[in-house]
Amino acid sequence: MPEYEIVIGLETHIQLNTETKIFCACKADSWEEEPNTNICPVCSGLPGVLPVPNAAVAEKAVLLAQAMNAEVQTDSYFDRKNYFYPDLPKGYQITQYDQPIATGGYLDLPMGDYTRRVEIEKLHIEEDAGKTKKEGNRRFIDFNRCGVPLIEMVTGPNLRSADEAAEYLIRLRQLLRWLNISEANMEKAHLRADANVSIRLKGEDKLNTKTEIKNVNSIEAVRTAIQKEAKRQIKEVEDGNDIKPWTLDWDEDTEMLSKMRSKETEADYRHFKEPDLLKVHVDQAWQDRILKDFPELPLARRQRFVDEYQLPAYDADILTNERSLSDYFEQAVKAYDGDVKRVSNWMINDIQRMLNESGKMAGELKLKPEYLAEIIQLVDSKKVNNPTGKSLLDKVESTGKSPQEIVEAEGLGQVSDTGAIREIAQAIVDENPDQVEKYLGGKDGLIGWFVGQVMQKSQGKANPNMAREILLEIFSEK
Ligand code: ZN
Ligand code: MN
Repeated sequence: MPEYEIVIGLETHIQLNTETKIFCACKADSWEEEPNTNICPVCSGLPGVLPVPNAAVAEKAVLLAQAMNAEVQTDSYFDRKNYFYPDLPKGYQITQYDQPIATGGYLDLPMGDYTRRVEIEKLHIEEDAGKTKKEGNRRFIDFNRCGVPLIEMVTGPNLRSADEAAEYLIRLRQLLRWLNISEANMEKAHLRADANVSIRLKGEDKLNTKTEIKNVNSIEAVRTAIQKEAKRQIKEVEDGNDIKPWTLDWDEDTEMLSKMRSKETEADYRHFKEPDLLKVHVDQAWQDRILKDFPELPLARRQRFVDEYQLPAYDADILTNERSLSDYFEQAVKAYDGDVKRVSNWMINDIQRMLNESGKMAGELKLKPEYLAEIIQLVDSKKVNNPTGKSLLDKVESTGKSPQEIVEAEGLGQVSDTGAIREIAQAIVDENPDQVEKYLGGKDGLIGWFVGQVMQKSQGKANPNMAREILLEIFSEK
């Protein structure tokens, strides 16, 4: 069989985490509200009302444009996209068409041994429609989501595998959270992706007929759906059939794609400029204000962690996954005197566990980065042993006290006094003649058991390496 290449473009809709909707004062996020309780005359399309644009929407679009290396347009315009559907009470969607808020741009995806550049054609702002829900043979309509602000962003046909498409969504989600643009939770439809998929023989340049996959609500589902669709298309072509420009619906439960409808053409929507709204004017001064505190972006920070701290890419990736974690790490590094990899290990193993268990962000921990540095330092200088160091994490988190304070109050300091350890070790040896005999008879592994006994008797405070050395000494005298 000849070798095929998959060509994928992604169309994403991003729900912005603004306080209010795009053209009215209703709450933007009504995920937990009863149907049709978060609506007003504007977003439910009653006659005689006028939309008032929410400036925060343009601000978030400018932030995203900057992150995607896109060019913000000083003047952009709203258009009406006309179509009928029960969840669209006005009969049109207010969106941006040929003069969107930003154009061009790209995102570079690190794919291990290569980088994939994904081009962005444009980025525009628009309002969301409502939802329809099927129950038995009845359909229900919920307008709560009408007027929720969205950014729509379309990539070029640059992605070449399901993995690259998944990586794009992972990096986009990371950016959106990093910049506080969106919660970007796919399960809650804050981030929605439709995938345009076509195939061609490897080495060909032309774009073949594509299909569009809709309603995929997790990154894993995007991966699976694209793989399935590419496989289907290859089989069609191998069987001598044409690919038809279908829109395909992804069913989450069965993991199957089914044909929804043949695609509308652009002309069907009769776009025209929205007569009720002025142009969106983002002058230089406003742009400067929005971008004043623009942060270092995750992929740049990831690279810097590798270059500046000589961290493995794996560590750098985890530590820059989320901004709060990444800031926490750098503050701990600043407060710590020693090998940065030590801090990274404690972050990845212990702080991550604490965050997972508590559902907190790193910045919300009572265990401040300085305290983490202090704990590692206590272990490094052998003032406490490793298990005590680990137990200090939760103790600091639950009390908010400094590690030093807790060590002093609870007498957790490691016993490095050889005399004290020798006394305990000798007692253990005297109390367990059978074990001693076995050990001396060649069961070397038992040394661990003896060390364990010393640790237990010292209530975990003995320096385990020292305990081991002293035990070996006692045995060698036998
Ligand atoms: Zn409203
Ligand atoms: Mn759209």
